[in-house]
Amino acid sequence: MKYKEDVKKAAEILKKSIPELTASKVPITPYNYGIWYTHCSGVNKKLSTDLNNILKDYGTLNHEQSLDLFKRHVINDLLSIDDKLESNLQKVMSDMSESATFTEQNAGDLERELTISLRSLNSSVNEEELKTIISTISEKTRLVSSTTKQFKNVLSDAQQEINQLKQELQEAKEAANKDTLTKLFNRRHFDNKLATTLDKKRDSDAYALILLDVDHFKAFNDNYGHLMGDTVLKSIGQVLNFMCEDTNHIPYRYGGEEFAILMPKTSMREAKILAENTRKKISSLKIKDKKSGQEISKITASFGLAFFGPEDTKESLIERSDSALYRAKQNGRNQVVSQ
Ligand code: GH3
Ligand code: MG
Ligand code: MG
Repeated sequence: MKYKEDVKKAAEILKKSIPELTASKVPITPYNYGIWYTHCSGVNKKLSTDLNNILKDYGTLNHEQSLDLFKRHVINDLLSIDDKLESNLQKVMSDMSESATFTEQNAGDLERELTISLRSLNSSVNEEELKTIISTISEKTRLVSSTTKQFKNVLSDAQQEINQLKQELQEAKEAANKDTLTKLFNRRHFDNKLATTLDKKRDSDAYALILLDVDHFKAFNDNYGHLMGDTVLKSIGQVLNFMCEDTNHIPYRYGGEEFAILMPKTSMREAKILAENTRKKISSLKIKDKKSGQEISKITASFGLAFFGPEDTKESLIERSDSALYRAKQNGRNQVVSQ
């Protein structure tokens, strides 16, 4: 939950919360205050519904119920995906099990009633007794049908909750592999991808790696400021994405002002062309300094390119790209060196 109330509004909510808390006979702990504050501010309908349901059934809130509501509704956005999974799944499972037990009890009641009625029908019954039997059976049947319907609703809610959690889990997984500034994949993804693709690679498959590093970026930051530096990194990220679009090359933010491109099944010629075109594209980037309106030009980067050879390991491929990059820097920067 995000709380954006100002001092006055927060004080109003406090005044409303305390009498309600007291009336519900719960201790005013940080958990309970958080729950009632959120409830009284009216911003979380789900919390209010869950709280009202518990109060209707139990008249108050015990510590476990309070902790559960607090986690699911008050600090949900601050929890890690693991915590969320645990607390939301627990709730889904307990709702389902409660509803299943209730449905089972009612079905059992109906079965017993039917057995008794059948026995009565075997002996002679008069019209009045028959009416009573039929009305009891129909009432129990209605109850079973209604609890089965409720159970179906609980199942469908559970399905929705599980789908939502699945989606959040997927998003969390993707976020863990992405760099937040450039939106490119990050080093963690790079390490995994390089290891898995090299494991699967056949000897005949070519494999290339480009490492590139922005030239004199420290001086750039000193001249234009760190924010402007961030804009440059973002633009380079866009250039790499553009150059790798519709290919099997994958661009990465390798760290700081360094980037990488993994190129599975790529020939030496193709990799050199891509590196050279990317270098040109970066050196023709024109970015405006928002403060001065001045156009900043000549951002350049140096490139080191290496091909996976029969003797190579993951580490040696990176090392060879890195030493090619070092040579590009030594030779005067803004160039591609391949090994
Ligand atoms: P070289 O041409 O030899 O690579 O020189 P350089 O100045 O680029 O290299 P150096 O390693 O001395 O400096 C790298 C700079 O990159 C320093 C650091 O502040 C900057 N940098 C790293 N990450 C970021 C970032 O996320 N944003 C910004 N704005 N700057 C960054
Ligand atoms: Mg560097
Ligand atoms: Mg640099």
